[in-house]
Amino acid sequence: MRIAVDLEKCIGAGQCALVAPEVFDQRDDDGVVVVLNEAPGDDLKASVREAAMLCPAQVISLDEG
Ligand code: SF4
Repeated sequence: MRIAVDLEKCIGAGQCALVAPEVFDQRDDDGVVVVLNEAPGDDLKASVREAAMLCPAQVISLDEG
C-alpha cells in the first residue's frame, strides 16, 4: 500500500491523525497533514483505510498495489 495526500486540499481536520497516528501527523502551524509512513505495513492497513474514508476533505488516496 502506498499513500498519497493532496496537501493543497487538506483542511487540517485531523481525523487521519486520530485514527492512524502511526501514519499521519499534522503540521504544528496550520494542521495540514504530514504522512509519517508512505508505505505502511499490513498491520496498519485497516486503520489507514479508515482514515482515508473518514477524511472530510477526501484527500487521502491509497494505492493498494
Ligand atoms: S483527515 Fe483529511 S483533511 Fe483532515 S488532516 Fe487528515 S488529510 Fe487533512
